[in-house]
Amino acid sequence: MAKNIDWSNLGFEYTPADYRYVATCKDGKWDEGGLSEDPNFMINECAGVLQYAQACFEGLKAYRTEDGRIVTFRPDLNAKRMSDSAARLEIPPVPEELFMKALDALVNANKDLVPPYGSGATLYVRPYVYGSSPVIGVAPAEEYTFRMICMPVGPYFKGGAKPVVVKISDYDRAAPHGTGGIKAALNYAMSLYAGMKAHEEGFAENIYLDPATRTKIEEAGGMNVIFVTKDGSLVVPKSPSILPSITRRSLVVVARDILGMKVDEREVTLAEVPEFAECGLVGTAAVICPVGKISDHGREIAFPSGMETMGPVLSKLYDTLTGIQMGRLEAPEGWIHEIK
Ligand SMILES: *Cc1c(COP(=O)(O)O)cnc(C)c1O
Repeated sequence: MAKNIDWSNLGFEYTPADYRYVATCKDGKWDEGGLSEDPNFMINECAGVLQYAQACFEGLKAYRTEDGRIVTFRPDLNAKRMSDSAARLEIPPVPEELFMKALDALVNANKDLVPPYGSGATLYVRPYVYGSSPVIGVAPAEEYTFRMICMPVGPYFKGGAKPVVVKISDYDRAAPHGTGGIKAALNYAMSLYAGMKAHEEGFAENIYLDPATRTKIEEAGGMNVIFVTKDGSLVVPKSPSILPSITRRSLVVVARDILGMKVDEREVTLAEVPEFAECGLVGTAAVICPVGKISDHGREIAFPSGMETMGPVLSKLYDTLTGIQMGRLEAPEGWIHEIK
């Protein structure tokens, strides 16, 4: 593949990389797998993933550091979370060693696609696992495929992190005791309709409430929500149906242990949101996307941080976490996995 890529003008789009990693599970046993050059494959018309959506996925990034190394951020947590997701969907979990082996092999084979330091671009890695054998009676599939693909993606924010306007959704993302806490593909299928509606109305994202009482903040379609109080402490909504974001869990450690901030992980009601000074959506793609306003059925909740820039506390969190990810700041033990 020609590597004369215009890194700073990349979007967040699929492009086939030179290589992908593929492994198969039969009779509950995962094989070693290996690299493939083919972005297309044959699948049976009755495969479990196609009939009953038996699939889950992960998302992480490989970065080039200032001194030229290639690193990934806490991939062991992606491996663990994919195992948890798989178990909940009756998919045999991919062993962590296989996940890590695939990651090293994949990124190494596609080294030329890891954007240079300072470009703001990264190599996005998408691991996923799905039922690949035919199923017609409702049951788990007998065979599974694990794939890990990657593509270079541009900076999430071009020309600075501009705050977005989001809305409180009338739809629910995840039922109590449902699959909200795992990265199931089906959670995304169900959020597409609500997401498109929000976009048509001019909002960047939906914020979902807890479906049982519709009074508490859950999260956005693909990002957790965090708040900063007027006296500068971090407030993180807590609920079993919120997806355990690795970015959010890392920000909690950065805030508490590195920046010495007070961190409160607890239920957060919609009623108390106007009291907060800053709000952000957090996930691998953006790290932190600042929220300037939340629209709640015509009522506007405008944060004092405004619509021009990310607020001071979130900026500090953002700079510290991205500094760690890019190798500019010392990382807590075990956070950086170098691809060798
Ligand atoms: C993946 C995901 C996130 C973000 O998780 P990270 O590990 O930080 O990328 C947040 N919410 C949902 C629903 C997700 O699927």
